[in-house]
Amino acid sequence: MKAIKVIEPFKVEIVDVPKPEIEKEDDVIVRITSGGICGSDIGIWNGTNSLATYPRLIGHEFGGIVESVGSAVTSVKPGDKVAVDPVVSCGHCYACKIGRHNVCSTLEVMGVHRDGGFAEYVKADEANIHVFHKDFDESLLGIVEPFTIGVEINRRGQIHEGDQVLIMGAGPIGICAMQVAKRNGASVMMTDLVKERLDKALSMGADEVVLVSEENLEERINKFTNGEGIPVIVDTVCIPSSFEQSVQLACPAGRIVVIGLKNQPSSITMADITKKELTIVGSRLNNNCFDEVIEGFEDGSLNPQDLMTKTYNYKDIMDALTMIKEHPQDVLKIVLKFED
Ligand code: MN
Ligand code: ZN
Repeated sequence: MKAIKVIEPFKVEIVDVPKPEIEKEDDVIVRITSGGICGSDIGIWNGTNSLATYPRLIGHEFGGIVESVGSAVTSVKPGDKVAVDPVVSCGHCYACKIGRHNVCSTLEVMGVHRDGGFAEYVKADEANIHVFHKDFDESLLGIVEPFTIGVEINRRGQIHEGDQVLIMGAGPIGICAMQVAKRNGASVMMTDLVKERLDKALSMGADEVVLVSEENLEERINKFTNGEGIPVIVDTVCIPSSFEQSVQLACPAGRIVVIGLKNQPSSITMADITKKELTIVGSRLNNNCFDEVIEGFEDGSLNPQDLMTKTYNYKDIMDALTMIKEHPQDVLKIVLKFED
C-alpha cells in the first residue's frame, strides 16, 4: 500500500509499505478516506516539531471505513465509517490511572512518535476507533481530531452554559474551540490580526470578533461583559506575550486555558495569579473526546464542512504543503483524500 513518509526534514515521499494485517484480537484495520493536515505536520516536515522522530509516516488526523476486525472486536464492524484517535497510552501510569491518558508518562501519538494515518490502510486498537452512526461525507471523517482538541479545551476550561469566553486566535484550533463552546451554550469573543479569519469566525458562530491590530481589546471586553472582565480565556496564539495578556485580562476567579508547546518563558509573577485566584490549566491532545465530536457532527452543532478549506489527493501532498506554507492565512484545514 501507499503511505506518506517524511524521510527527514523537507524530504517527503509517497512510499510503498506492507499493508497492515490483523495480529491481535482487538485490532481494527481501517481503509483511510480522509486525513487533515495540521500545523504539527508542517512542523515535522520543516524540522521544527521537537517531538517528532524520523523517518515517519505522518498524519494524526484521519478516518475512513473499517476493512476488517480482530476476533474480540464488538464495537465496530467492516463497512462502518470511523475516525481514529491517535493518542496511545500505557494504561497504568499515574495519569492513566486517574483517567487522564492523554498525558500518559509514555504517551505516543500516531503520526508523531509512531507511524500515523496518511496511508491507504491503518491498524489501530478497537479502543481508538470511533464510529459514525449516520452516513457521513467520507472526506470529513479525518477532521474529527481537530474538534477533539476543542472539546478538551472546553472541558479543561470548564466552559458551560452562560459562560463568556475570549478565544485569542481564529486559526483552526480557535475555530474548533469556539464551535464547541457555542455547542456548550457559552458566548464567545474571538481575536485575530487577520480580518478575513475573523469574518470566517463570525460566519461559523462567534458572537463577537476583535481585530486587535486596530481595536482596543480591553474596551471591547468591558462592553462584552458589562464591565465585569472576562472569566474564561483560551490562548491559541501561544506566544509569551499572549499568555501574559491572558493573565492580565482575566477577571478575578477567572480561568485560562493554554495549549502552547513552546519553551520560551513568560514574565508572569506569582502575585498575578494569586491576587485574582486564577485557574490556569494546560490542555493537550484529547482525552476520549471523539464521541462527543461525532455527536456534534451528526446533530449539526459542529460544522466540519466550513473548516475544510480545500481537498487534495494524497499523492499531491507537496502541493498541499506548499499551499499551507505560502498562504498560511488563507488556510483553516486542508484535507487529503485517499483515492486513486
Ligand atoms: Mn492536529
Ligand atoms: Zn500511562
